[in-house]
Formats: sequence, C-alpha cells, structure tokens
Amino acid sequence: MSVLLHLCRTCRHRETSHHGGDRGYTACPCCRGAGDIDPEPLLVQTWSFPLWEVEPLHRPGAQWNAGTTHRLELCACARCVERFAELEGDLPPHG
Ligand SMILES: [Zn+2]
Ligand SMILES: [Zn+2]
Ligand SMILES: [Zn+2]
Repeated sequence: MSVLLHLCRTCRHRETSHHGGDRGYTACPCCRGAGDIDPEPLLVQTWSFPLWEVEPLHRPGAQWNAGTTHRLELCACARCVERFAELEGDLPPHG
C-alpha cells in the first residue's frame, strides 16, 4: 500500500509522525528524540503484483503494518491530510 511518510532531515530515516513516541525502537539518537522532521510529507508508492498497479493510498491516521512486528499509525498532520486530499481528488471531511 502507498503511504505518506515524513523524512528526518538529519538522518533521512522515514518517520510516521512528528513525535518520538513511535520511534522508541530505533537506534538513531536524533530519531529517539524530537528529530528534525521535514514538515512536507513524502509519498511512498508501492505496487501490487502481478499488474504493477499502484496500491491505494492509506488514509492519514490509518494503521499501517510495515512488515515489522510494530504496527504503526500513519501521520495525520494537516499537511498529510491536505496531500492525501490532493492525491485522492477528495476533500478532507469537515462535518
Ligand atoms: Zn534516524
Ligand atoms: Zn533522524
Ligand atoms: Zn504528516
């Protein structure tokens, strides 16, 4: 599945959030702390076999299992929500 992630500008690790809470398992000192997270989300696309179709984009805040034992929650910051809306041609729900 395709996801929106944020890059740490110091170490270029991909982070799911702007907070250190879900990064406790990393060995990286900057990512264990606040990090230096690029506010602009990065679209990471994945493709499904056998047709190489781009897989649907995960909604910000959705649970995402990145093939690890950790289930991550995707970032749901304003930029991720906006980017998601642009990509999906869809406006975020406003009630
Ligand atoms: Zn790092
Ligand atoms: Zn970092
Ligand atoms: Zn975000």
